[in-house]
Amino acid sequence: MKWTQGYIYTLKESPADAEIASHKLFVRGGFIRKLAPGIFTYGPLLLRSIRKLEAIIREELDQRQCVEVLMPVVQPREVWEETGRWQAWGDDLLKFSDRNEREFCLGPTHEEVITDYVRKDIKSYRDLPKTLYQIQNKVRNEIRPRFGLMRGREFAMKDAYSFDVTEEAAFGSYDRMYEAYVAIFKRLGLNFRVVDADSGNIGGNKSQEFHVLAESGEDHLLVAEDGEFAANVEVCPATRKESEDSKAKEPLPMEEFSTPGLRTIKDLSKSTGVSERELVKTLFYSSSSGEEVRPVAILLCGDDELNPIKLKKVLGLSSEPLMLTDNEVRELTGATPGSCGPVGLQIPIYADHGVMNRVNFIVGANKDDVHIKNVNFERDFQVTQVADLRMAKEGDQNPKGEGVLKSYRGIEVGHIFYLGTKYSQSMGLEYLDDQGKRCPVEMGCYGIGVTRTLQSAVEQSHDKDGIVWPISIAPYQVHICCLDPKDESVAAASEELYDGLIKDGVDVLMDDREERPGVKFKDADLLGMPVRVTIGGRGLKNNELEVVIRKTKEVFKVPVSNVLLKTLEVLRGLKS
Ligand code: ATP
Ligand code: MG
Repeated sequence: MKWTQGYIYTLKESPADAEIASHKLFVRGGFIRKLAPGIFTYGPLLLRSIRKLEAIIREELDQRQCVEVLMPVVQPREVWEETGRWQAWGDDLLKFSDRNEREFCLGPTHEEVITDYVRKDIKSYRDLPKTLYQIQNKVRNEIRPRFGLMRGREFAMKDAYSFDVTEEAAFGSYDRMYEAYVAIFKRLGLNFRVVDADSGNIGGNKSQEFHVLAESGEDHLLVAEDGEFAANVEVCPATRKESEDSKAKEPLPMEEFSTPGLRTIKDLSKSTGVSERELVKTLFYSSSSGEEVRPVAILLCGDDELNPIKLKKVLGLSSEPLMLTDNEVRELTGATPGSCGPVGLQIPIYADHGVMNRVNFIVGANKDDVHIKNVNFERDFQVTQVADLRMAKEGDQNPKGEGVLKSYRGIEVGHIFYLGTKYSQSMGLEYLDDQGKRCPVEMGCYGIGVTRTLQSAVEQSHDKDGIVWPISIAPYQVHICCLDPKDESVAAASEELYDGLIKDGVDVLMDDREERPGVKFKDADLLGMPVRVTIGGRGLKNNELEVVIRKTKEVFKVPVSNVLLKTLEVLRGLKS
């Protein structure tokens, strides 16, 4: 494409609301323009990258017996009621009514719609297995859309759904999709990790996420330095060697002491000289998913953080538990949260494993500005349940092998789930087995955030001057800077290279604007095509044109007659 015939508008300044590099670069390069929070128009350059990523996804899925369909974006409330997710998704669904007051939502995911689709056709074990997929815009009413396409309210997703007769077969489909995802993300040249993950409000009991590693990532990953284990912190089991010293100590009598103004673990540690780890903190949550408050107390080591997803599972809730307000805590205990503890409480008490070997420890006395020392389990209060409740952290032991865990930030670009029969049972998707018996279909579902993946690629691959597109998803492979389009010989040489490359199947962008060379070079760096060729009057005169690799800035000076071959050779090098 020639610049003057296309639609490319670059900006010098980054938008004020862009916090991360890829978002800034996408706006500056005209790849996206915001219409409303989390809602964007994709410019022609980004659309080319989207199409390339879609093609890679299709290739990898089609060769693994997946079949493409396209389902409606508009989904009736009734199918969501069948699975109970109209309520469970709540305000994350963007809902509306038609002229007859019939309610709909815009699809954030398609488990209900696909299950409805296949229950109309799948009858017997002979119809299975099947895996269907689509690539389509999803709509989620995100609370905090941000970082451009990273967390949009409308975004492109590839979603796939597998249908099998047995659990074993379903895991076979899951593994095939895992392989496809690895192949896809490798072809994009991304540095990624696969981690164990929470199934969130999709459901099922096994899931893994694919994360592009990047400092700006919203997710916290823990990866075993040696060995296979890697998990999202949301589900990472917390294991560390606790000191055994305290166990040997004799329990001493409890004793209250005054702690005026000491409301934080840090202050208490400073004033008592006891390390934050040895202190025990008490948190208050409600163990009900509904309106009513059903208080429970949680005990953690002073320097640990509660993992709300673990607590949700221990309490058997359908959504993350809510922390009690300061007023609710005061009503319950008679004190502000910083002075509370487990002694004398009449509510269930859940303790993290980490605190269980404490002897003669300090907790709040449930009186403002008072703590108690020499508190002991059993003698002074009873624990309802001991569980893994804390956030695992860097330096913890690898829960599945040797060594310790290391911390990374990641951007979730893909997520695969084994669903079991959650949807087939609630929606009556059954098949007849070879004995004529009705059985629920075993399902899996699999997502790739198409637009998020493209922005992640840029987040991982850019420099101070702009984007460095991986060649497989670059909008164009070659960017010709035609420095003086009015000069006939320059225009002719540029056209010749442009046509030659196109004949060889190369995607070319030619900057044929009447702009200063500096402006063109800046834009070429900003837009980030893998190879730039510069054609100007001086180069032609000296019979020396420049072919530049965007990533390394390596410059090849080549005679005019050789520029096409050299460009093709450099491209081949980048692809291999
Ligand atoms: P997140 O935890 O980031 O909110 P999710 O776990 O809710 O995402 P899934 O339901 O697993 O998302 O969706 C599949 C994929 O769709 C995700 O792995 C991600 O790549 C992409 N995705 C999800 N939400 C968004 C969004 N708001 N904007 C862009 N891509 C998204
Ligand atoms: Mg997810």
